[in-house]
Amino acid sequence: MRRVALLGATGSIGTAAQDLARAYPDRIRLVSLAARSNHEALIRAAEEFRVPRIALVDPEAARRARSAWKGGEVLEGEEALAALAAEDGVDVVVNAVVGGIGLKPTVAALSAGKRVALANKESVVLAGELLLGIAKRSGGSLVPVDSEHSGVAQCLAARPVSDVRRVTLTASGGPFLRRAPASIQDATPAEVLKHPTWSMGERITVDCATLMNKGFEVIEARWLFGLPPDRLDVVIHPQSIVHAFVEFVDGSVLAQLSIPDMRLPLLYALSAPERWTSELPRLQLLDLPSLSFERPDPARSPGLTLARRALEAGGTSTAVLNAADEEAVRLFLEKKIRFGDLMPLVEEVLGAHRPQGGALTLESILEADRWARARLHEAAANVARG
Ligand code: NDP
Ligand code: MG
Repeated sequence: MRRVALLGATGSIGTAAQDLARAYPDRIRLVSLAARSNHEALIRAAEEFRVPRIALVDPEAARRARSAWKGGEVLEGEEALAALAAEDGVDVVVNAVVGGIGLKPTVAALSAGKRVALANKESVVLAGELLLGIAKRSGGSLVPVDSEHSGVAQCLAARPVSDVRRVTLTASGGPFLRRAPASIQDATPAEVLKHPTWSMGERITVDCATLMNKGFEVIEARWLFGLPPDRLDVVIHPQSIVHAFVEFVDGSVLAQLSIPDMRLPLLYALSAPERWTSELPRLQLLDLPSLSFERPDPARSPGLTLARRALEAGGTSTAVLNAADEEAVRLFLEKKIRFGDLMPLVEEVLGAHRPQGGALTLESILEADRWARARLHEAAANVARG
């Protein structure tokens, strides 16, 4: 039995985790749930799974939850996420909150020696090296939920990285794969949010259209698998069937395939190293469309270019990249900036940052994060003024 704290329980990944808890009542027990403000959905889940503790980051939502639900305790505020993550009696923390706010709960869970099933890739983008150090000291572990990284981990099957020549992550290419960059400058949030193969939360879907999501994934792979950036490739694979390739030093290549359904990598993050029989939809090889692979076009993948630049600059640069992108995406979804402004604004903030090198602390990372958010809003105000 895995006793699970589910952070981000009301989102796309959180709902997938609820599906798995429903499908495996003898193996997965949800012991706490957290979200930002959607108290109604959180209470529904708490009632269904008889969860004794829930947390809402938004205090007003927590207040409403307390008056509507008498089934257990309601915590509030950002600190509640870390408190639930570190609690005794939790074996696995599924971190499925969106944004840099996910970092502290990851730190808390790892410090307490827990397994973190990590959907919140932002944690690693902000603080990959720091997290690895904590995990090493505490015996905690970071298990990827991201489909590509789950694919890599399954191909690697705990082989040493010295056996690996190259890892290739696939990218769908997002909604604008066949559109000329000049024609998407004014794309609306509704157009950007129509992802061809995956159904996901808003932030990651926008990041798929700029390829920033794939950039984050290169950073994520760099830390999770200890591979230098020049051994991490990306190919466009519009069908999203192959999630990753691992080429070994002898020239043999393993790939991981499945239908695009996040419940699969999430299931593996919970079951590993075991495999649990599932009733999830299966890959039907004979019904597949033909699978194609192409090189990313730099003009259509500015996010990937910026992420590689941040990774090379090192230190606090990747934290700045995430924070600037998170704020820019928010402004775009609020229709305060154009789609075409997103990456130039992030690039401006990244260019203005003087990365702090050496051993980073949580505080120095959060300081860079705050700086980048403020700087992005300054830059965006200038764009808005024209
Ligand atoms: P969603 O937007 O669907 O859900 C986000 C969840 O986080 C919700 O439960 C939301 O609560 C909660 N949340 C949002 N803001 C805060 C906050 N400030 N404090 C606490 N909780 C917050 O996102 P996804 O499920 O799509 O993504 C979650 C994470 O998983 C992201 O890091 C994403 O990159 C990653 N991921 C997602 C994939 C997918 O298929 N969706 C694939 C691979 C990775 P509320 O409902 O109350 O707002
Ligand atoms: Mg992914």
